[in-house]
Amino acid sequence: MATNRTALVTGASRGIGRAIALRLASQGVAIGVNYANSREQAEEVCAEIAAAGGRAVALKADISQRPQVLAMVAELTAHLGAPDILVNNAGLLIRGDLGDFDFSQMDRMRGVNVDGLVHVTRACVDGMIERGWGRIVNLSSLAALGTTNAGTTFYAATKAAVIALTKRFALELGPSGITVNAIAPGFIGTDMVLGLGTPEKVEEITRNMAALAMVRRIGTPEDIAHAAAFLCAEEASFITAQTLTVDGGRMNYIGHG
Ligand code: NDP
Repeated sequence: MATNRTALVTGASRGIGRAIALRLASQGVAIGVNYANSREQAEEVCAEIAAAGGRAVALKADISQRPQVLAMVAELTAHLGAPDILVNNAGLLIRGDLGDFDFSQMDRMRGVNVDGLVHVTRACVDGMIERGWGRIVNLSSLAALGTTNAGTTFYAATKAAVIALTKRFALELGPSGITVNAIAPGFIGTDMVLGLGTPEKVEEITRNMAALAMVRRIGTPEDIAHAAAFLCAEEASFITAQTLTVDGGRMNYIGHG
């Protein structure tokens, strides 16, 4: 990775976004570490990057709010330069399916997972177009490709929208040297999926989810960071409009039990 690149990683205070920020920084990329609430954790990520000799700035913005997004990208540009790489990672999982949903909550989730991704992408692309180079990686989910846990129907719909937007943005931006790809992670051990459980419950979920993957383990944030770094590489310029499933084989696994 060229050392003069700048990346914006949304939702980089915790979980998958944090791992992606650290991974890109280890390759010499300057990082905008976006967060919504976890200021301390975002600053810890920046401190970790700085301690390793890299450059990073913590950027507070609720990505569902366009004025906050515009201010965030302006702040990043002033500190580290305009983003060449954008990782649309920030996301919310709010339970809801046809039998039990609250539209105000579903609106909030869509506001972050879909509208937020559009706001951030829109705010970042002009500079990429001017420079004729860009990498955009969007976090979708296995939930968009098949059926997963009950209660995630509307979450799945937001993540399916991410795949559609990935393909259409790839079409719009391809002539400008910008690739747009999505990653569909399987079960990754982060706050989003393990955060609320007791230690016993977390162990049970981890065991059950590991059994559903061919590789017999759950994923780590670093598994996803590795895939994101691959899609952001200079050499990945002919890969666009793709959704890379990173799930330990779960999507294709039918138990032989
Ligand atoms: P976490 O819940 O662990 O972290 C979410 C991150 O997003 C946090 O940094 C949080 O910031 C940020 N965030 C949430 N809302 C906003 C907002 N409105 N504006 C800005 N930032 C926001 O999630 P994961 O790391 O597990 O997930 C990351 C992405 O991967 C998500 O898009 C998720 O849907 C997707 N994914 C995750 C899977 C998993 O198994 N974990 C599986 C498939 C997809 P703050 O700390 O400030 O709250």
